[in-house]
Amino acid sequence: MQLVFASNNKNKIKEIQILLPPMFQLLSLEDIGCLEEIPETADTIEGNAILKANYVTQNYGYNCFADDTGLEVDALNGEPGVFSARYAGEQRDANDNMDKLLANLEGKSNRNSQFKTVIALNLDGKQNLFTGVINGKIIEEKIGTNGFGYDPIFIADGYYKTFAELTLEEKSVISHRGLAVKQLVDFLK
Ligand code: IMP
Repeated sequence: MQLVFASNNKNKIKEIQILLPPMFQLLSLEDIGCLEEIPETADTIEGNAILKANYVTQNYGYNCFADDTGLEVDALNGEPGVFSARYAGEQRDANDNMDKLLANLEGKSNRNSQFKTVIALNLDGKQNLFTGVINGKIIEEKIGTNGFGYDPIFIADGYYKTFAELTLEEKSVISHRGLAVKQLVDFLK
């Protein structure tokens, strides 16, 4: 069965294809000729995942899943949340985003935060959501060079290394995205 992942990220697609039962053939947006940018205008992480999955199903007729992720910081009332990618502006620069977050947290003792990934799946006319959450703390400086986004300033609870000091394999086992994908795969099995 063909299933679209509303993404053009080849690495993500490969990783998920390996985990799926062989009956599912994963297609990218490019594979189905969806070359336009899908609007991400919802004000929640869930809402954006649903928008993206529905866009593909409604306009292209495929079963589809889409993911959306954000970092929610307690002392900032859940910011940057749905705005994580463009927190410091439309240039979507990870260093600028981290600098802004560190500045906004300066002097605050509550550094609790969580990464959250929501996957919305449209399968044969039904919709299911899968949510992966990892709790941790924002540290005061950037440490590590692996990963992307806010990885250098996030330490998961129970760990002493930032996400940017973990290997991709180590991070995937505990990460928000890894947890959400596991639920999706278990459901499709
Ligand atoms: P997306 O929904 O996967 O595109 O993620 C939105 C934004 O959240 C990214 O641009 C990053 O700023 C941040 N983000 C998502 N996943 C991670 C992660 O695993 N580590 C660090 N930052 C992330």
